[in-house]
Amino acid sequence: MRYNTLGIHLTNACNLTCGHCITDSSPQARGDLTWPQIESAVRSAAAHVDGVCVTGGEAMLRRDLALRTIGLTRSLGLRSSMVTNGFWARSPHEASAVIGDLVAAGLDKLAVSFDRYHFTPKHRAIRVEMLDALLAAGAQTALELVVQYCGPGDDDAYEIADSAAARHGARFETAAVLPFGRGRNLILRRNVDIAEVPDGACGVVGRPILTPEGDFYTCCGPARGAPQHSPLRLRIASAGEVGDALAAAEVDPIINTIHNTGPKSMLDALSEPVRARVTRNLLDGSMCSLCRAITDDEEAVDEVRARLRGDELRVVAVSALLKSVQIEQQESATCRR
Ligand code: SF4
Ligand code: SF4
Repeated sequence: MRYNTLGIHLTNACNLTCGHCITDSSPQARGDLTWPQIESAVRSAAAHVDGVCVTGGEAMLRRDLALRTIGLTRSLGLRSSMVTNGFWARSPHEASAVIGDLVAAGLDKLAVSFDRYHFTPKHRAIRVEMLDALLAAGAQTALELVVQYCGPGDDDAYEIADSAAARHGARFETAAVLPFGRGRNLILRRNVDIAEVPDGACGVVGRPILTPEGDFYTCCGPARGAPQHSPLRLRIASAGEVGDALAAAEVDPIINTIHNTGPKSMLDALSEPVRARVTRNLLDGSMCSLCRAITDDEEAVDEVRARLRGDELRVVAVSALLKSVQIEQQESATCRR
């Protein structure tokens, strides 16, 4: 497996306090990465990723750091992207000025998040105007534009985001609210049926993130806060070690299993009591909830690792057997000649 985008979580602070925020960001939240940490991390990861994404919290609250990170990313020949709530697009003029700075720094892709959690009814009209101003300004440039909606898709924010994206030639992406960060207060459930959890591979496991606390996780968002033993938490003593941590994780059998066949495929490796415990710990029916329930559980991780080691040994044994059969066939063919 190869990692694709390194997330640089510039700050925990945000001007908003969305109810579903997976990073628990708010105006009161504290914690920022420093420039030396960012520079070390980006340079160290450069050989293992194709791009760097500047995110938060609200990345544009640390505008200078954001622009510097984008510039460094470009200078290393990597693709740069940013996720923002677009608060800075207060008028068409301001939107154009900020987007001009981002493009001049080397930004390739700008994603703006917009859903019903991003505004109160009182601020709705303002947020809609900002979204429109941002997308209109971005459409005048070569930036790849994305509108990210998070929610059930049954509200008018979905319609607003979808039609604004279509109007300005932006891609529209949707995601479900997850039971992590403040999202836990919205959708925490009891007695979740394991059958609800979808099969399939995880496409986000290849997007690692460095947080303001200096923690490093294999995926952006849901892995945050994973315990020390978790395979989702990549071990680093400093930001300059993220490249080594990625090299180690690229060959980790559990990370590769999540990437290739998905968290649900790990259930078969669990003994009955551990499987029952994992199922009891599900927060909802999402793939991430199952992934965290397994990887947070030290015994479950040991059982999955043991099974994967067994599979590896079986593959090695079968290959050796096939090779010896081939040699025998070649030898007998040689004898007949
Ligand atoms: S979801 Fe985004 S915009 Fe909302 S509080 Fe969190 S970081 Fe800020
Ligand atoms: S399935 Fe696991 S690795 Fe993938 S995004 Fe969710 S928590 Fe992260």
